[in-house]
Amino acid sequence: MFRINDNFTLLAGNYLFSEVGRKIAAFQASHPEAELIRMGIGDVTRPLCPAAIEALHRAVDDEASSSTFHGYGPEQGYGFLREKIAEIDYRGRGIDVAPDEIFISDGAKSDTGNIGDILSVACRVAVTDPVYPVYVDTNVMAGRAGLPTSDGGWSNIEFLPCTAENGFVPELPKTDPDIIYLCYPNNPTGTALTRDQLKVWVDYCLAHGALLLFDSAYEAYITEDDVPRSIYEIDGARECAIEFRSFSKTAGFTGIRLGYTVVPRCLKGVDSRGERVALNPLWNRRQSTKFNGASYLSQRAAEALYTPEGCRQVAETVGYYMENAAIMRAGLAGAGLQAVGGVNSPYLWIKTPDRMTSWEFFDLLLDKYNIAGTPGSGFGKAGEGYFRLTAFNTLENTRAAMLRLSSHLFTNKK
Ligand code: PLP
Repeated sequence: MFRINDNFTLLAGNYLFSEVGRKIAAFQASHPEAELIRMGIGDVTRPLCPAAIEALHRAVDDEASSSTFHGYGPEQGYGFLREKIAEIDYRGRGIDVAPDEIFISDGAKSDTGNIGDILSVACRVAVTDPVYPVYVDTNVMAGRAGLPTSDGGWSNIEFLPCTAENGFVPELPKTDPDIIYLCYPNNPTGTALTRDQLKVWVDYCLAHGALLLFDSAYEAYITEDDVPRSIYEIDGARECAIEFRSFSKTAGFTGIRLGYTVVPRCLKGVDSRGERVALNPLWNRRQSTKFNGASYLSQRAAEALYTPEGCRQVAETVGYYMENAAIMRAGLAGAGLQAVGGVNSPYLWIKTPDRMTSWEFFDLLLDKYNIAGTPGSGFGKAGEGYFRLTAFNTLENTRAAMLRLSSHLFTNKK
């Protein structure tokens, strides 16, 4: 009988979201009259902006005529989009990234999950705790995580706690990892790192020969000047970092699907003989073999986001969510809750009051205020005692949720 990849049997089930879904369904069945406000969702709610919609219609028309039809496109993405990204997301901001260092994909989840294909299974890994679970699970699948440990971790992954005690800023690793995942602005904590704080990580990676996998899926939400929009704003990052970006939260492409990954030409690792090897051709080879390119339609839609009109419309949508975030920050503070995030990201990370566990607070918000969020413990051990709310609901629902909470003054007595 054929053998399966045993690593998959090591993975825990997707307990967090299935349990959240089960509890919400049970609540709705027993309280059909309740007006539930969902603030746990990581999906956006605003429709695509008009510039993207018009471009999509034009692209559909292109596909209807043999003279403009597009079949298979380049695996790396169309030049028209790679050039716009290089020009507007990078060079226009004084950041040195060339079109041939940009790889268009169907999203950052795929790329952050697939990047391990070009890295040795022997590499040691570090991630923050709490963490976007894809980084951990894909290393488990690849056999790079080692074995589960008694405290819920993995023998070959160093978890770097981010809690109120360290201001949600991870400390440098102690185990000399080869690969470090950082996501800033962060999901789930909503916090960001400043230029000086990110420089510490770039310097560490350069000094230790480590690769920095930098997920900036929430870059569009940055409002503060000292928070870099790209890791390549930090000197030396081109020699040690890969950057992942997504159009999902920027432009509502969660259903359209589109993202991109930057692999600088000068970024090198070593092979088993100790020879230095550039990662850009390896990633190109990986993508050309396993990926047939993102759709023509989605790439034309993304191109339209870079027109002056598109840029303005994207900023408007991001602004809508950030207004929600500001309402939430004020509402949570007014209810006596301590929260971070919501300044450079659409996430708010709440300290549960009175030492409640994440799940106890979930139950309280659901049962008493009919608000659904996400228990922080689902994102890692250091997420216990925290709770995530997102700013992706409508303005009306966000206001209504904060009004409900304002009837209560939470304390931190215990
Ligand atoms: N990276 C982070 C940190 C995310 O939170 C998400 C989505 O929630 C993604 C990547 C996935 O992005 P995409 O929709 O481009 O696959």
